[in-house]
Amino acid sequence: MSYYKHLKTREYYENLYDEMTVRDCRMTEDSFLKDYPQFKMVDFQIKDENRRVVCGQDKGPSLQETLDKLPKEEKECRIRYMVTVMILYSKAGDRASRRRETINDWIQRDTLRDEKRAKIWEQYPENTRKRCRKCGGLMKCFNKDFYDTSEQKDRILFMYECLNPDCKYREAEFEDGEIWKKEEPKCPNCNVLLKESQKRLKEKIRYYSKCPQCDFKDSWDLDLSNKAKKKTKADIDAEKLMERDKLRFCLSEKEGAEYRQSCDSMKRFHEIMEKEKEAEKVGESFQQIKLLEKIPFLEAQKRIKEKLKGKKFLKLKFGDPNMGRDVVFEFKIYEGDPTRSEYDAKKELKTLIGKALNKTNWKLMSEGISSRMGIFSGRIRGVEHKTY
Ligand SMILES: [Zn+2]
Ligand SMILES: [Zn+2]
Repeated sequence: MSYYKHLKTREYYENLYDEMTVRDCRMTEDSFLKDYPQFKMVDFQIKDENRRVVCGQDKGPSLQETLDKLPKEEKECRIRYMVTVMILYSKAGDRASRRRETINDWIQRDTLRDEKRAKIWEQYPENTRKRCRKCGGLMKCFNKDFYDTSEQKDRILFMYECLNPDCKYREAEFEDGEIWKKEEPKCPNCNVLLKESQKRLKEKIRYYSKCPQCDFKDSWDLDLSNKAKKKTKADIDAEKLMERDKLRFCLSEKEGAEYRQSCDSMKRFHEIMEKEKEAEKVGESFQQIKLLEKIPFLEAQKRIKEKLKGKKFLKLKFGDPNMGRDVVFEFKIYEGDPTRSEYDAKKELKTLIGKALNKTNWKLMSEGISSRMGIFSGRIRGVEHKTY
């Protein structure tokens, strides 16, 4: 009596991994081919020149130039194609770089599973003194196996038969003595027990179940022939395609490592670029402030007052300065021309203040000017340092 072993040859796991890679890449490829049926699958040779162009490993004559010469539709198609190749390359590269480690993990996992099962198997021998509940005769174990292949369970089921030739009663028992009970199938519609029957065919037994209440019916076959299923032509074709696609999508370990490296340097490159951009921004604003005329608080107010003189605005008032990171103060002013629209007055105020503070370190805050019943207000901000 033996049981199912999880651990297989290394080749088995390698195959499994590569087939997963192929399926993953085929999905990406299929989504492209759906829109551009003029391409054929084999057009995607991610190992060829395209990859180097797409991935920026090639500094040849400008790709942009070549693209710009193409008609619009062809250009679009070409770009989509290149993006697809790029995605394919990153998928294939990523999988290749993780292949060895993943396969080792799988082998490790299955080895542990088998070791655990071997212990359980040894721990629970068959009961050689089990008695028949029908006639009291001795029973013999004729089968011992793990009941469930799932990891959590690992339960062993023993099958016994009564040695009394007139009885031959059969019973199955778990390692902890629990008697196995057949689950009675129920109708998914009515939840009543199904009527079961079976029919012996040439190389199989066909089981039927039927609901006594509704028209639910089901059947399944138990294959009795031990012959390996014969491969159909479709199976053979699929295998050939799989081998072909493994050549296209399964990169070598060395190529996987190269991919990983190029990812790392791309990442570093981006980080450097980001930092430079940031530094540029700070530098720029610092430069801007240096170019601005730095004037004190009262001078800023004075310039605003002068600019608004004679423009039919009345009673200009300034609030106290608010000393935060920057200096902010409020102003209030009244409409002196009843014929002017509120919109025009606001616009004029904004322009005048802008002119008054032009090229100084003070300006109207971005919230603008608010107005109510001929009263206008707003805030002015002054910047002192490069924290701008
Ligand atoms: Zn018996
Ligand atoms: Zn039913």
